[in-house]
Amino acid sequence: MTDQIKPQPGIMDIALYVGGKAKVDGVANVVKLSSNENPFGPSPAAQDAIKRAAHEVHRYPSTDHLELRTAIAQVHNLDVDRIICGVGSDEIIHFLCQAYVGQGDEVVYTEHGFSMYRISTLAAGGTPVEVPENQRMTDVDAILNGCTDRTKLVFIANPNNPTGTMIGLAEVERLAKGLPEGAILVLDGAYAEYVAGYDGGAGLVERRDNVVMTRTFSKIYGLGGMRVGWGYAPKPIIDVLNRIRGPFNLSNLALVAAEAAVRDRDYVERSRFENTRMRTWLAEALAEHGVPSDTSMGNFILARFNSPAEAHACDDFLQKEGLIVRRVDSYKLPNALRITIGDEASCRRAAHCIGQFK
Ligand code: PMP
Repeated sequence: MTDQIKPQPGIMDIALYVGGKAKVDGVANVVKLSSNENPFGPSPAAQDAIKRAAHEVHRYPSTDHLELRTAIAQVHNLDVDRIICGVGSDEIIHFLCQAYVGQGDEVVYTEHGFSMYRISTLAAGGTPVEVPENQRMTDVDAILNGCTDRTKLVFIANPNNPTGTMIGLAEVERLAKGLPEGAILVLDGAYAEYVAGYDGGAGLVERRDNVVMTRTFSKIYGLGGMRVGWGYAPKPIIDVLNRIRGPFNLSNLALVAAEAAVRDRDYVERSRFENTRMRTWLAEALAEHGVPSDTSMGNFILARFNSPAEAHACDDFLQKEGLIVRRVDSYKLPNALRITIGDEASCRRAAHCIGQFK
């Protein structure tokens, strides 16, 4: 990495992550490896764009996000009219549930699937249907078996959070083809940029009328605090989602930051390269300490322990050492900890501490 990409100093919302747990009092150099953020922060171009736009925040922002949508369309070679932007991809997930799910309708996702699928399904009055994964891999047959004529949406994240596993596009297409009439497949590509050459399923969206792709600026672009995500969908679905979307859902600072970030391809490339390098290193270092993980395609690894008690004890130990990682009990993975790939120093520290714990 060149010196343009610098690790973030210090650390912030520990209280937010730790929730019910004690804060890390009196520990210097606390490192947060719990929210799958880019350890190098946002691209300098995005930071400059925010500074340049700061004097304009008395103005309401664009309602159609045309400049951001155009940038996304140009960079990814997509149809600008099939893009919708939201307050994080969370909001796109929420719009989809609000638009397509009602009382008695079912939404299918996998047992280790992202938490928002359940939250947004319940908020829309729908019924969540969680189907098993096969050794932490998305299982297309299990999803198809979980579908009924009441299924309205099917969510899969590819790569998946928190497992890091990924299925091929041929499998995804088999799923899309096998869905019941009227059901929509939502392909959550929050981590797509970490997979070189992967289009997140955009090509599938263009070939089929029952596939939607969601993407985010919170991960590789390092803009989690700005809250920008987008969706790519057949035009009739975009029209429906735009009827739900508030006219000023994104702030002008968020819009300019995301536009500059998506155009800075060099920053994305270098962030991906560095993530792959340290992810490989960390997985090997943990394996040497007797902590296995599946091959991850995202910016995190799922470290597996022998029991929930051991995973929790390791989390407590790491926290005392100033390392914040993520327990994933709520994802039905109580014997695992999810560790975000940090910069090299943080990864070395994490491996060292886990080695000490073991
Ligand atoms: N999908 C997946 C799989 C995620 O892991 C996340 C963030 N943790 C999101 C969607 C939502 O991201 P955001 O709302 O920040 O775009």
